[in-house]
Amino acid sequence: MNAMLGRDWLPTGVVPLTSVITAVSYGSNPKAVLHYQNTSLFMDVTLDELPRHITERGNPGNIEGVSVAEVQLPADLLRLGFHFIDTPGLGSAIAENTRTTQRFLPEADALLLVTSYDSALTEEECGTLEQAQSGGRPIFVVLNKQDAVGPAEREEVFAHVRGRLTQLFGAAAPPLFSVSATQALAARLAGDRSALEGSGLEIFEDALTCFLVEDRRQAFLVGLCGRIEGLLQQAGDHVLLDELEALRRQFAMPVPATPAASGGLPARTQPLAGCEVCTVLREEADQFLSHFQLALYGDRQAQEQLATRGGLCDAHLPRLEALAAPREIATGFAPVLAAQAARLRILARDRATAALACEAVVAAQAASRICLVCDAVAPAGAAALRRMAVTVRQFGAAALYRNGSPCLRHFAELLRLVEDAALVGNLLGLQAALMERLEEDLRRLSLKQDAAQRHAASAEELAAPARALHALASVPAARLAPEVLRSGRPMADTDRGLP
Ligand SMILES: [Zn+2]
Ligand SMILES: [Zn+2]
Repeated sequence: MNAMLGRDWLPTGVVPLTSVITAVSYGSNPKAVLHYQNTSLFMDVTLDELPRHITERGNPGNIEGVSVAEVQLPADLLRLGFHFIDTPGLGSAIAENTRTTQRFLPEADALLLVTSYDSALTEEECGTLEQAQSGGRPIFVVLNKQDAVGPAEREEVFAHVRGRLTQLFGAAAPPLFSVSATQALAARLAGDRSALEGSGLEIFEDALTCFLVEDRRQAFLVGLCGRIEGLLQQAGDHVLLDELEALRRQFAMPVPATPAASGGLPARTQPLAGCEVCTVLREEADQFLSHFQLALYGDRQAQEQLATRGGLCDAHLPRLEALAAPREIATGFAPVLAAQAARLRILARDRATAALACEAVVAAQAASRICLVCDAVAPAGAAALRRMAVTVRQFGAAALYRNGSPCLRHFAELLRLVEDAALVGNLLGLQAALMERLEEDLRRLSLKQDAAQRHAASAEELAAPARALHALASVPAARLAPEVLRSGRPMADTDRGLP
């Protein structure tokens, strides 16, 4: 498992693990939950603590009564949808292990039997294979520890196991793979391509991925067509039946294996921060407002500015309300209300038409324009955007997603700054991958909520709803015009074509 996950996430050892099932699936953060026998209680533990509960040494004879250790890991292989149920070894020193494993077999979609060159395919393992085969589920047999034997012995053992499988299953013998998990893990950790190839693990992974991504989907879709067909025949809808038949033929066609790309996003073990530009804009606005609220009380010029602009925009007004004392709002906003009232009186006196009156009131409302605070924070936001653009140009598109992810609006503005077409293409692909990740987190969270499995949700998944909304919309009123980006200075109202 560790070799396939590319990291020694799970405890290993020559001491047999206790009779605990380890269920491994994707989660955006490493996380483990222990379930106990005869109770619905569960306990969160860190991965470091896991060995204390699921190894014979840490939990002898499973005295703690752990039944299942549910482990979530941010590994790309798991993102494809694999859900590994790691069972204790068959025929190991502890009889309970064999029983636990056999109890679990009927639940699996596929069986992956890992045996090794030093004790290749025991009689017990053969028995399990026969049992699994009769259930009609796909089987993969892996011969591990190929590094422990010389080339001649390797060949001999491999041929022996191959022969035994053919003897048992004839033409339907499961595929056999020779690997060295130890070498594969070391090669992955060291980034050594040729050593990884030599370990044989990739060939096995490709077969497994192909099974999951294509074969299973195909079987599922064809099966689904069958069920729909039954319903349509009852309804006697022949047009839809024909369409269904066409679909079924399409699904049944073999599809070339194309393992889903990880999208090129940096591997993630930390929750991503939000949009950097939005964060800067929010902090700058709060800082500005903390001074501005004082100015409202004592600074005539500030009061006049505010009155001329008709207040603050929809985004910054509530922020001021949260920060300022009633005395400051009272002093600062009395002139604003007077100015607004005067505008309305003029409209009333001039008997403006409905359309004109509407337009004039909207124009007088600061909400529809960029306010004093918007102006004040724009340069800092523009600087943050330019920093992003420099990072992308120097270190490539993926560098943008190392510490955070831009909201859509600031992403759009970044594209304009980056200019280079190839880079823009990369950025678009990564931003799409990011949104797909968020989508997955949302779906996973939603499924877990439905299944009352909230405890299984990772911190990232729990944060996903808020992150998803922030990814779609930036801090309101954080629009940065191109002129601001170039000069770093706010524009005058006249530049924006505002009255
Ligand atoms: Zn943003
Ligand atoms: Zn504003």
